[in-house]
Amino acid sequence: MVPLTKPERDGDVVSRKLLGFLLSEVKAVRIICKNCHCGFEVNTGGLARVQQKACSFCKNPLVDQPSDAPNPFSQLAQLIELLQRSDTAKCDIEFVVPEDSDLPERASFAHKKPNE
Ligand SMILES: [Zn+2]
Repeated sequence: MVPLTKPERDGDVVSRKLLGFLLSEVKAVRIICKNCHCGFEVNTGGLARVQQKACSFCKNPLVDQPSDAPNPFSQLAQLIELLQRSDTAKCDIEFVVPEDSDLPERASFAHKKPNE
């Protein structure tokens, strides 16, 4: 565990520059198909209502799981809500993205509507 207050040192393992964002800052999420890199954006409050099982563009499944499995988007929404509520969350969660991350699917993410 690396203390967050410790200054970064060049050449050290912990000196790698990172991009971070807090879960409390997240207001919307993008669901991006790994097959065609198209997707849609939904605010965190609406994530629980996402029932979509297949990509609107290429029709590939968004999640490969048994049909009777719980909706993963709804589960994620419940956890985000619990961890964002000021009366329940006594910590914040920071997501860390390496600055040199390639993120190919994000770089080519296409924001469009089906049949465009
Ligand atoms: Zn797709």
